[in-house]
Amino acid sequence: MYLVSACLLGLRTRFDGKMLKQSGPLIIPLDKIIPFCPEQLGGLSTPRFPAEIVDGGGEDVLAGRAQIINSMGENLTESFLRGARESLYLARLYNAEGIFLKDGSPSCGSCYIYDGTFSGWQHPGRGVTAALLNLKGFPVFNETDLFDRELT
Ligand code: SF4
Repeated sequence: MYLVSACLLGLRTRFDGKMLKQSGPLIIPLDKIIPFCPEQLGGLSTPRFPAEIVDGGGEDVLAGRAQIINSMGENLTESFLRGARESLYLARLYNAEGIFLKDGSPSCGSCYIYDGTFSGWQHPGRGVTAALLNLKGFPVFNETDLFDRELT
């Protein structure tokens, strides 16, 4: 089985409650996919204010060196950590062969994340769920590996 960020499948789990446009046919059959959203699993509501990791990446959040703050200045680190732990539970429950995550998110980013200033700047790094799943040995990919662009 494969876990996939729910928003990549068209579910309105994003912070703004909007649907992401799917980028092409999936390379994995739907009956092998478990959709999940770490931020909803962490107890956050939808829609919600955007959040970013301040002073680091997902690994720093796991180590207690960085925090996740929303655009209203609220510290949501505990909710994001809970979502990461629940996602790890799901990955273990299904013995996931691979996990496809939406890049850029403070939970799901696997190649880049936003820099914590809410100014649109990005830098290389992982979100907290991607970091935990990677740390525990699960293969983590971003959306560019999920869709077959040759068929679009
Ligand atoms: Fe949920 Fe991850 Fe999609 Fe954000 S990027 S809406 S946390 S699945």
